[in-house]
Amino acid sequence: MPLQLIDGEDWPAIRAWTKTVCDALATLAPALDVRLDYLDPNVAAATGASGPDRHRPFHAPVLVRRPLTAPSDERAVWHLELDLSGSGYDETKARSRARVLGGGRSPSHLAEHAQAPAPISIAYEPGDALGVLPTNAPADVAAVLRLLDPAAVHTFTMAPPLAAEADGPRAAPLPLPTLLAAHYDLKAVRPELLDLLATHAGGAERDRLAALVTGGLTVKTNGTLAEYLHGRELVDVLRDFGAAAVRTPVPDLLSCLRPLQPRYYSISSAPGAVRPDGCALTVAEVRYELHGTPRTGVASVHLAERVQLRGTVPVFLSRVRPKHDAAWRAKGNLNFFCFCWAPSA
Ligand SMILES: Cc1cc2nc3c(=O)[nH]c(=O)nc-3n(C[C@H](O)[C@H](O)[C@H](O)COP(=O)(O)OP(=O)(O)OC[C@H]3O[C@@H](n4cnc5c(N)ncnc54)[C@H](O)[C@@H]3O)c2cc1C
Repeated sequence: MPLQLIDGEDWPAIRAWTKTVCDALATLAPALDVRLDYLDPNVAAATGASGPDRHRPFHAPVLVRRPLTAPSDERAVWHLELDLSGSGYDETKARSRARVLGGGRSPSHLAEHAQAPAPISIAYEPGDALGVLPTNAPADVAAVLRLLDPAAVHTFTMAPPLAAEADGPRAAPLPLPTLLAAHYDLKAVRPELLDLLATHAGGAERDRLAALVTGGLTVKTNGTLAEYLHGRELVDVLRDFGAAAVRTPVPDLLSCLRPLQPRYYSISSAPGAVRPDGCALTVAEVRYELHGTPRTGVASVHLAERVQLRGTVPVFLSRVRPKHDAAWRAKGNLNFFCFCWAPSA
């Protein structure tokens, strides 16, 4: 099986690789019913359940947020409770609800209810995680905007990345500040950005960029590049090559950024435990310092600080099923888990 190295959630690469694995399994063991599941954005379709996904998230009100740690503790950890009512449609529950509602009435009345979506919460199970679509910190967005072509900052609009995979309003053109806030990763820098900046650089900047990319754009084989990118976020690189950054056309620059990815949080409550249609998350804030300035994790601090109480956060369910599905297991099915872990910065 070919080794596929990825950085972050590079879904086109993940999909291509998992397809190769599934095709190989299907050839080697045709009797196996091979399916994709965990963390797949189309998992709802794959499991036959409907509900929000990363392209059509549910905007869940945050009802409770309280610290689990003391202010003096080194790391802040938060307990959050989200309201998931109305977030999903579960066929089984819809059918049983229809039976209850139908009572002694006519079969046609019962059929009508059986087909109507039941306004219930996403049905989660222990071990499931909630995918959260965060936004970048406004200060981080402002810092990046200050380093780009000023003419583009107020006028540029573009459809968000991944728009091809999404339908509806998310595919509409958005202004640059919104694109940077909600759709682009401002943390990890792709080597291609340095290559792009080099084409717009002059003098000492061009020489420094050339020295970084001359060994190739792969951090695994270009130690100089790896060392430079280690511990530098987008804002640090744009600052280092300020003249080139201002000259670089914004659409080209955006094409070198990664789409902002959802973060996953294990649901830390049993179904119905915190409220009938809600769930709890336990979130540890990520805070660190780089080049003398404090930095924050995107999603953990979004949840801990930026989202207002009673405000909403876009979420979708990431199921571990069919691992916990007894009927599925009873058929003698097996799960293969492909789990990748790489240390970050
Ligand atoms: C299935 C699953 C379940 C999870 N469940 C939970 C959960 O229940 N609770 C929970 O808190 N988290 C959980 N996580 C982790 C969570 O998804 C996020 O990864 C975590 O909250 C950090 O995300 P963030 O957006 O805040 O940070 P990011 O914005 O992703 O920030 C991390 C960035 O900071 C950099 N960084 C971090 N520390 C330093 C440092 N000291 N110096 C330099 N750079 C640094 C990293 O390299 C990275 O670029 C889970 C993850 C998965 C996959």
